[in-house]
Amino acid sequence: MKILFASSEVFPHAKSGGLADVASALPHAIKEFEDISRVMPLYGFMSKKGLKKVKNLEIKISHIKYDVVVYTKLQKKVLTYFIEAPLLSSTQNMYADEKGDYANNDLRFSIFCNAIVVLSLELGVDIIHLNDWHTALTALYIKDAKLDIKTVFTIHNLAYQGIFDFESLQRVGIDSKYFSMDKLEFYGRVNFLKAGVFYSDAVTTVSSNYAKEILTKEFGCGLDGFLKVHKAKLSGILNGIDTDIFNPKTDKTLVYRFDKNSLKDKYKNKVEFIKQSTLKDPRKPLFVMITRLVEQKGIDLVLSSLKKLLQNKLNFFMLGEGGENISIHLEKLSKKYDNFEFFNGYNESLSHMAYASADFLLMPSRFEPCGLNQLIAMRYGTIPVVHSVGGLKESVFEDILACGIGIVFEKFTQKEFLSAIDRALKLKKDTKKLDEIKQLNMECDFSFEKSALKYIEIYYKILK
Ligand code: ADP
Repeated sequence: MKILFASSEVFPHAKSGGLADVASALPHAIKEFEDISRVMPLYGFMSKKGLKKVKNLEIKISHIKYDVVVYTKLQKKVLTYFIEAPLLSSTQNMYADEKGDYANNDLRFSIFCNAIVVLSLELGVDIIHLNDWHTALTALYIKDAKLDIKTVFTIHNLAYQGIFDFESLQRVGIDSKYFSMDKLEFYGRVNFLKAGVFYSDAVTTVSSNYAKEILTKEFGCGLDGFLKVHKAKLSGILNGIDTDIFNPKTDKTLVYRFDKNSLKDKYKNKVEFIKQSTLKDPRKPLFVMITRLVEQKGIDLVLSSLKKLLQNKLNFFMLGEGGENISIHLEKLSKKYDNFEFFNGYNESLSHMAYASADFLLMPSRFEPCGLNQLIAMRYGTIPVVHSVGGLKESVFEDILACGIGIVFEKFTQKEFLSAIDRALKLKKDTKKLDEIKQLNMECDFSFEKSALKYIEIYYKILK
């Protein structure tokens, strides 16, 4: 079986969030069992150093020809194909600049999808594994051309659907016969994600719980009815993490590397982290939050609770990117409180140091398809404090001494959130129990192996 894994972002080349981590780690795990390669765009900000130019492809969309250049790079036994094409590759960001989303994202990602189809035919792949709306049109193009290739479509976050004006259909070369409510139409506009769901042979999302939640009005983002129609081919598979990249024993970005038997060295990182921040006193419990600054992540709950939260004897460090208004507000608060520091931006090495130094990770998400932060945190002996939703409900447990121990609150209210913080502070005082939990979490297997096998099972099922 030959598989091509397609994603708009792959760590370390381009990353805006968890999708890039998954697109990096999952193919490596699948490669242990099956023949898989990967394809992603070559964006304008990416370096071509180390890439090998391997072929030219020609694609046509609405009678316009686009010349595509394909590069490759081998990483940990997985070959990645990079697609360089007009419009797709000319931007300095993936999806948007300071003015907002690129106006031609429909065409940019349609070019990517067309290139995936042509490349797949040349490579003779049996399965294309598509991820999120940027790759979704591939499924439609495959079915439209009656090609003998099966597709799996994974929804990493239903909140992002790729919605464009009606005119987009013509721009991306899709016949208007597909513009109906049961297919691509969405309140008079065109919805790319719907193409992925409708035309793929299997649809997955990143936790079993989220697979159930998206069938409800509350979490369905307007697509719950549509998804219910396709329920039979929908399943949930929990994400893992790359346990080589996220490994406190070998992580070069840490000042002190450690494992479950050397938690003193975790504390030394904390001392160093506090020294380099505006915070004081490493003996105080350190809470961190590492996040995109969007409503999904519960930023509003944190902001409305912040004053009360900071009245406790604790330090709170937040690393966040996005939303100019929120970041300006957080910067002001950071100056006001001496036990709160906000670092504005995306910073990979700082995030590792924060995971390693913290006692607790805050993840009060309104909704969370899977969430990777809580898994990374536990791998670094940091205890997650989470809202019981989506994948968090499936990976963090408060009541049992098993894998994935943390503090869990049920209702998305200030009262429950602050009460969870209180429980965390109480736990911090019980050093023996705290260390025991840290060690148990650090022993857990958060790798992608189990999930990789579940994806492979789906690939074989749809090939039958
Ligand atoms: P999402 O994809 O919704 O943003 P996930 O929990 O699936 O959330 O994945 C988030 C990933 O992005 C994790 O690897 C996390 O460490 C990383 N991350 C998020 N925000 C930042 C940031 N500001 N700086 C560095 N890494 C970040």
